[in-house]
Amino acid sequence: MKIRYLGTAAAEGWPALFCTCKACRLAREKGGRNIRTRAQSIIDDRLLIDFSADTYWHFVKNDIKMDEISACLITHAHEDHLYADDFCNRRVGFAYLDEGSAEYLTVYGTQKPVQQVVKATSGCAPDRVHTRVLERFKTANIDGYDVTPMDADHDPNADSVIYIIERDGKTLLYAHDTGIFPESDWDHMIGRGIRFDFVSLDCTGGLYAQYEHGHMGTNACEKMKAKLIAAGLADERTIFCLNHFSHNGGAIYDEIAPKMAEKGFMVSYDGMEVEF
Ligand SMILES: [Zn+2]
Ligand SMILES: [Zn+2]
Ligand SMILES: [Zn+2]
Repeated sequence: MKIRYLGTAAAEGWPALFCTCKACRLAREKGGRNIRTRAQSIIDDRLLIDFSADTYWHFVKNDIKMDEISACLITHAHEDHLYADDFCNRRVGFAYLDEGSAEYLTVYGTQKPVQQVVKATSGCAPDRVHTRVLERFKTANIDGYDVTPMDADHDPNADSVIYIIERDGKTLLYAHDTGIFPESDWDHMIGRGIRFDFVSLDCTGGLYAQYEHGHMGTNACEKMKAKLIAAGLADERTIFCLNHFSHNGGAIYDEIAPKMAEKGFMVSYDGMEVEF
């Protein structure tokens, strides 16, 4: 399995759109991996996760064949993860599909994000954008991947979930946006005897942030790693990667990456690919 991080920032992007703070100025000055667009990832170049307003730029920059994508998972109904109006650009006259294109794109998620997609596309592209509601803790087969949504400790109004994604004996945990996982998740993961090959953890708070609810910082991520290993859900072969960063965390990529490498974490950047 391969994960490619297309965007690695929280809602405002980094530099943040209207911000003059020190962390944003530093990111602009240093450029490269310190520039982060809004969170989105793709698995094996075919299973898309989230659909922010930066999707267009991710498609251009990474040369993704977006017309061929037939499945998109949405984590929750926050605008940095779902900009539903852009699905309308798949409509007749805006998108000319060919024999290699997917006939339709199916968007998967919980009730609230799916409702937003239905609302945005019912008048413009209902034949080309389909939707399917996923239930927490029920595994769905999506284009050959076993996908299980679990509870997120994040805005309940956004109907937030994190995802377990499995295929060909490899297991990925995609955990954004969330604080320390709720008990229901531990019951599910331990009950199934899962062992993760790759764990992508929310690190919105950045280096040494204390908070553990809604989002996490490096302190909470270290706790999560220890807890996953202690529960037998991960081991020394599991890759842990921090992702979804905010300028409020302060430490740009150049600062946080070496510090967290010492503690056994990768730090995501836009365009990073990891095969496992
Ligand atoms: Zn977010
Ligand atoms: Zn800023
Ligand atoms: Zn969110």
